[in-house]
Amino acid sequence: MENKLIITTSWDDGHELDLRLAALLEKYGLKGTFYVPLRNAEKPVMNVEQLKELSKNHEIGGHTVNHIYLNSLGNSDAAYEIKECKVMLENQILKKVEAFCFPGGKYAQRDIEFVREAGFLFGRTTKLLMTKNETNTFLMDTTVQAYNHSNITLTKHCLKRKYLKPIFQNGFFINSNKNFVKLTEEYTNRLLQSGGVFHLWGHSWEIDEQNLWNELETVFKMLSEIKNAIYMNNSDCWKSLNTK
Ligand SMILES: [Zn+2]
Repeated sequence: MENKLIITTSWDDGHELDLRLAALLEKYGLKGTFYVPLRNAEKPVMNVEQLKELSKNHEIGGHTVNHIYLNSLGNSDAAYEIKECKVMLENQILKKVEAFCFPGGKYAQRDIEFVREAGFLFGRTTKLLMTKNETNTFLMDTTVQAYNHSNITLTKHCLKRKYLKPIFQNGFFINSNKNFVKLTEEYTNRLLQSGGVFHLWGHSWEIDEQNLWNELETVFKMLSEIKNAIYMNNSDCWKSLNTK
């Protein structure tokens, strides 16, 4: 089982279009984790009934109380945003909340400590084009976003994080822009040989804004047809990597 391919997905911000997205996941037998803030000044968030409905078939994860970038906060406010969102979500859905995701992918070392102290398993980042999860870091990275980034954006993303391999591996210099359907195809083909984690993430409100529902369904169908893939939510994926 060394080269098993785990497919996991995650969806941020708790917009009510998450319910549409969840139905699409279910149609293709995929698993997802939905990271939901309690409040968000920029976008409406699902009400308690909708959240409970979503939690029946999918994992709910913490995404702070107010969807505030943690790097803009002092220590006590950051600790509150991380620790309190777990308690509040658990009181709403009456289930354990084990996964956390940093709003905007922004965090400091301090915040990783707060994630651990709060009792979460890990903090999901917005780092793309990753296919392994180093479980000792308490960070979970992603592979592809359900959004059509340009090659230039993806190259900058890698350079900023000093992670050069994907630039060459995906031929960002040579080839024309790849949409997320194409990137998904390339990554899953590679991972079928090597094994690893394919982590698709996105925002349902953004998929709607960008008119990407058809592409998303194409990707879901593609993922569902991969032989021998294992479908997991983020926390189950994390646990399986920790117990090998
Ligand atoms: Zn967010």
